[in-house]
Amino acid sequence: MAEIQLTLSLSEDEVQLRDLVREVVKKEVIPVRMELDEKNEYPRNVLNKFREAGLFGALFGEEYGGLGLGVMGNIIMAEEISYGCLGVNTAVLATKLGALPIEVGGTKEQKEKWLPPLATGEKMAAFGLTEPGAGSDVPALATTAVKKGDRYILNGTKQWISGAGQSDFYTVFAMTNKDRGTRGVSCFIVEKNSKGFSVGKKEDKLGIRCSETRSLIFEDCEVPVENLVGGVENSGFLYGLKTLNFSRPAVAAAAVGLSQGAMDAAVQYSREREQFGVKICSFQAIQHMLADMAMKIEAGRLLTYKSARLCEIGHKDMAKYSAIAKCFAADSAMAIATDALQIFGGYGYVKEYPVEKYFRDAKILQIYEGTSQVQKNEIAAGLIKEAASKR
Ligand SMILES: Cc1cc2nc3c(=O)[nH]c(=O)nc-3n(C[C@H](O)[C@H](O)[C@H](O)COP(=O)(O)OP(=O)(O)OC[C@H]3O[C@@H](n4cnc5c(N)ncnc54)[C@H](O)[C@@H]3O)c2cc1C
Repeated sequence: MAEIQLTLSLSEDEVQLRDLVREVVKKEVIPVRMELDEKNEYPRNVLNKFREAGLFGALFGEEYGGLGLGVMGNIIMAEEISYGCLGVNTAVLATKLGALPIEVGGTKEQKEKWLPPLATGEKMAAFGLTEPGAGSDVPALATTAVKKGDRYILNGTKQWISGAGQSDFYTVFAMTNKDRGTRGVSCFIVEKNSKGFSVGKKEDKLGIRCSETRSLIFEDCEVPVENLVGGVENSGFLYGLKTLNFSRPAVAAAAVGLSQGAMDAAVQYSREREQFGVKICSFQAIQHMLADMAMKIEAGRLLTYKSARLCEIGHKDMAKYSAIAKCFAADSAMAIATDALQIFGGYGYVKEYPVEKYFRDAKILQIYEGTSQVQKNEIAAGLIKEAASKR
């Protein structure tokens, strides 16, 4: 990477946001997280507290009524909320994921219409890319959109959509020209009450149980032509890629937040639990597990901040660095949550302590917004491209 100056610490505004989110999470998220998880319940009341504190603004630019903190606003939100509950974080950040295709590809009018109500939290959005037969293999999309007068007619199904059933509108990717493959994909804004649109059953998940996940079903669904993102057909695949470049650092941040929560719980427990007449934190085996966690968290946080700052300046290698941060932090979170549970022994295996939930929640970080294997494909593709351009 060419030499550039990057700030890897937080500015005053960023510290202020972090402290505010931390306070709200401590008061409103941590006390209810287990109940939400057990009941598989969408965190409506918690989201209202976020709205009241103006926190949805941290995800958007000032021109749309947000706080204008750039990608770092998302990073801070994701890390702090996930310290408390990754499910709540997914419910909150799903709206940003749904907004991003409009931010990266929308016309001025579309941005002015759809983004301000998201910045206040008055409305929620969600992102519909994955399909039953097209997960990692995004080019295999089968949902179609055919223009008919002043409408597009959408047919198909989207799978595993976070926020489905709770969102006011969806950014949905569909083929407008099947013969052109990825160059034939367009993106549409579909409102929840559109004719021919419905959602599937609520999924009963291993983790992040309070974040609602459902399919989106389009049966001759009618979408006005003005809801074609960017106003031109066949540019949607690019908007999808750009969206993921900007959002993966926030998944990395969520992984760092969850990891910090799991480590803090493990350190605390190791100082209280006694075996063989001593605190278990005096065993070197336990200390080394804690040290490994701390190293991974520090490295993951630095990679996350770096990828976010590169996204903010639109750096040419941002896709590679977003993938590096997401993959490293997600894999670390799974390892850290596993070791944290180990430190709790049998007590970690039941719901009395939070590590059982951190462990179940962590797994999704290696799956959504591209699996860890797909991130490695992206990183390697970046390396190979860079090597070719040096010749
Ligand atoms: C709880 C949850 C929430 C989600 N939220 C959303 C959302 O809001 N919006 C949305 O659009 N999607 C969402 N997703 C979908 C998610 O992004 C996909 O599940 C993910 O991209 C993987 O796709 P897949 O499940 O079809 O797995 P597959 O693509 O079938 O992968 C199966 C396995 O094969 C591996 N694999 C596949 N291709 C390759 C390859 N080329 N090289 C190496 N290994 C490979 C994968 O890494 C994985 O291990 C969500 C998923 C879940 C579970």
